[in-house]
Amino acid sequence: MKFEVTILGSSSATPVYNRNPTAQLLNCNEKFYLIDCGEGTQQQLIKFGIKASKIDHVFISHLHGDHYFGLIGLLSSMHLNGRTKPMKLFGPEPLLDILNLQFKHSDTILKFPIEFTAIQAEQPSLIFENNDVTVETIILNHRIPCTGFKFKEKKRLRKLLVEKLEADQVPLEYYPLLKRGVDLDLPNGSTILNTDYTTDSAEPKTYCYCSDTIADGSYLNSIQDCTVLYHEATFLHDLLERAIFTHHTTALQAAEIALNTGAGKLLIGHFSSRYKTLQPLLEEAAAVFPNTELALEGVTYLI
Ligand SMILES: [Zn+2]
Ligand SMILES: [Zn+2]
Repeated sequence: MKFEVTILGSSSATPVYNRNPTAQLLNCNEKFYLIDCGEGTQQQLIKFGIKASKIDHVFISHLHGDHYFGLIGLLSSMHLNGRTKPMKLFGPEPLLDILNLQFKHSDTILKFPIEFTAIQAEQPSLIFENNDVTVETIILNHRIPCTGFKFKEKKRLRKLLVEKLEADQVPLEYYPLLKRGVDLDLPNGSTILNTDYTTDSAEPKTYCYCSDTIADGSYLNSIQDCTVLYHEATFLHDLLERAIFTHHTTALQAAEIALNTGAGKLLIGHFSSRYKTLQPLLEEAAAVFPNTELALEGVTYLI
């Protein structure tokens, strides 16, 4: 099953040096989940050849403009392009009022429904699930209510050893039960053990998205042992005071968090506009957590 994330925006606050405000597109089994939607997200989708019409779920972390100023434009374009299928939208409660005010004063009646779920940034909770994935909130500590998102694959069914099943002439009707891990007691008294005819599926992977937050440790339980951790790293550590004042994280702190929570890999992003080149941020983080990569726009990272 495909599980990968494409970075659409990696900048904090303002667009600079060809970097755009935050947005990411998660592909889980060919279903597309947009995570934050900074200004310029539509252009980025076009640039990277991604059809916006494929997106059926949008998750907004908080109401600082660099995380959602692209949303009204994206939804408007979907409307103009004739979208009729529902859009599931998750975000802070005032988000729907903000959108509705803009639609009201442009006399726009959307051709598709927005199914809105208001997120409470008080305790982690399950906000979405389907056959592929569950999504839980991560309660971050920022200047305004802010949540990250933990996407966890669902455990797949066991894999059939088809050649062996055919060689032993196991009837096809038993296959679905074997996939679910059931042992079969046959009428003739014999037993078919599913472990003889199936192998376990891969362990479910997790992607944790931690947007704007101070590195205070309060949310570490929520992101324990994730496969890929995206964590903001707005500043180098020499600006720790500034990071604390603005409720952001340094590259060094992001790496310490990845190390302390047993992450498989760290992606850092949300870079301050003061950094023209990003290599120093990467070096600072990788010195503590070697398996670190920069979240670069247009790049797809496997989870
Ligand atoms: Zn931000
Ligand atoms: Zn913010």
